[in-house]
Amino acid sequence: MGLTSSYTSSPVGRLIVSAGPDLASLDRWIREFARVIEVHQDFLTELDSAIGDADHGTNMRRGMSAVVTSLDAAAARSESPETALAMFKSVGMTLVSTVGGASGPLYGTFFLRMATASGDVVAMSATEFATVLQAGLAGIVQRGKPEAGDKTMYDSLLPACTALDASLAAGLDLDQALTAASAAADAGRDATTPMQAHKGRASYLGERSIGHQDPGATSAALLVAAAVTAFRQPE
Ligand code: ADP
Ligand code: MG
Repeated sequence: MGLTSSYTSSPVGRLIVSAGPDLASLDRWIREFARVIEVHQDFLTELDSAIGDADHGTNMRRGMSAVVTSLDAAAARSESPETALAMFKSVGMTLVSTVGGASGPLYGTFFLRMATASGDVVAMSATEFATVLQAGLAGIVQRGKPEAGDKTMYDSLLPACTALDASLAAGLDLDQALTAASAAADAGRDATTPMQAHKGRASYLGERSIGHQDPGATSAALLVAAAVTAFRQPE
């Protein structure tokens, strides 16, 4: 299974709505995120050791490996999530229950809000996926109250969601739009370096937080990059 196309009526006939992810693609996204978190675990922890408490890599690795274990266990019982809602909900609940610190509730809320926004579907269009991501982002805002420039995961996720929406509105397909979103997330991540932190542990450092890349913005950029890889049709 790969990308699915959905169709809608228009005054000029049937118009193709840009294809979005199906359940198999979402499963690949979550597993790819777990894989890249594992690969970058030490780097994320190193970033957190400069402006936090040196646990972001271990936090995220613990959470995402628990997510994969739980997905594998469900598959072994032939009880894999059958809808996007069920899949994102299982990820969110696992993250909330296994990741301590700020990032657990924040990433957990992100996935739980994406679950609710997805609903009982097995596939969605590209714009539906963009809406689902925006709902996840709104959950992070509600939970952590980050603003742009506070030096958090929001500083890579907000530009990513904005670029995704704009690219889809300009007529790009999901792969092209996500590639633009990933570039925006990377730029947003890099832009956290000169920022002074105003949220989370790093804010305790005041001006001394300046000059360091934010760990959460870094893991969030990996999440967006993982979608680019995972949503491409397997060869
Ligand atoms: P902790 O700070 O509790 O040790 P982590 O190290 O796992 O948790 O995660 C730290 C990251 O969480 C930060 O780099 C930042 O991106 C993100 N973060 C912290 N507080 C907030 C907040 N209020 N809103 C959004 N993101 C936040
Ligand atoms: Mg930490």
